[in-house]
Amino acid sequence: KTYLRDKPHMNVGTIGHVDHGKTTLTAAITKILSSEKKAEFKKYEEIDHSPEEKRRGITINAACVEYQTDKRHYGHVDCPGHADFIKNMITGAAQMDGCILVVAATDGTMPQTREHLLLAKQIGIKRIVVFVNKVDAADKEMLELVEMEVRELLSEFGFDGDNAPVICGSALNALNGENPELGENKVKELLDAVDTYIEEPIRDLDKPFYLPIESVYSIPGRGTVAGGKLERGRIKKNTECEIVGYDKRIKSIITGVEMFRQILDEAQAGDQIGCLLRGTKKDELRRGMIIAKPGEIKLVNKIEAQIYLLGKDEGGRQKPLTDYFQGHIFCRTWNCSGFLEAPGREMVMPGEDTKVTFTLLKKMALELGERFTVRDGKQTIGYGVVTNI
Ligand code: GDP
Ligand code: MG
Repeated sequence: KTYLRDKPHMNVGTIGHVDHGKTTLTAAITKILSSEKKAEFKKYEEIDHSPEEKRRGITINAACVEYQTDKRHYGHVDCPGHADFIKNMITGAAQMDGCILVVAATDGTMPQTREHLLLAKQIGIKRIVVFVNKVDAADKEMLELVEMEVRELLSEFGFDGDNAPVICGSALNALNGENPELGENKVKELLDAVDTYIEEPIRDLDKPFYLPIESVYSIPGRGTVAGGKLERGRIKKNTECEIVGYDKRIKSIITGVEMFRQILDEAQAGDQIGCLLRGTKKDELRRGMIIAKPGEIKLVNKIEAQIYLLGKDEGGRQKPLTDYFQGHIFCRTWNCSGFLEAPGREMVMPGEDTKVTFTLLKKMALELGERFTVRDGKQTIGYGVVTNI
């Protein structure tokens, strides 16, 4: 089946603290739209699909579902909210053009609500729609408090907290077909807000193609497929490409392009696609590598950057970083260990902007002006932008 490009495609998804209802909401959206044949209903268990996810009831891997409104076609990534799986959240969110922040009215904003907003900002997400969930289980005063708290938090991270749509409802009611005033109607309201408030980005259609790999899988009898969001350019079948990153350059040929299991004649920037790669084994590929036009991509392992180290009250470190600090850089869908040096200084202080150099342990595809996040073990401690390569 061929993909019908009759409306703009956009990438959205759910972010927010663990247990606040992201996966329930994702399932509810597909259920409600399936009644109008604008989606295929994906049950909760189909979105969280690994046995471990099911057993523990938490999302580990970002999962992607597809649906349509009258206005647009959406790819929707459901991200993990658990602190241990932030890495999967970052790589999943790297594909989004805008997102739905889910906050449970019973809890209010929590540590990963904050962390996800910071990461969304870093990834370049401009607009966020809020779904205050579990309204069926919260009282009215709590609800008002949570809405205020979320708006403040959005503004703190540079989003438009005053004007962002905040919809209060119950994803569980919507999924179970109960209490339409809090369930179905609110989910429809949410989709209208996503349609109107999240703007279509301007796509770089005319630049050489550039696809950061988010997932790698094999289809028996057909070969290796690399999936992700096409950041720039266009891809047709039978296109020569180079796959770069983690010190490697691999030549390959894209023999087919698919979007949600439908064939694409031509993938365009913004599409969430799978590329069938001839002669490339699954083991050679890793999330974070870039598929690009041969010769276009520079691999670097030393960069200059401007970084901001989060202060203590921003969820960052208590202590400054000393020279030769070893941390993790997260950029688009890759992450790599590296050493930080601050020329002319002995320390990088929390709450400050500092000019630094990073020496990465592997050569990666990095460009001027690219934004990244700095993490220390399980903690996001800062962010930065590449100023020289
Ligand atoms: P996630 O970790 O953010 O993906 O959260 P889940 O979607 O897995 O939901 C976590 C728990 O909250 C599950 O037990 C859900 O049934 C429950 N839940 C989700 N939405 C609602 C809601 O609107 N009301 C109530 N009372 N519970 C909800
Ligand atoms: Mg989940």
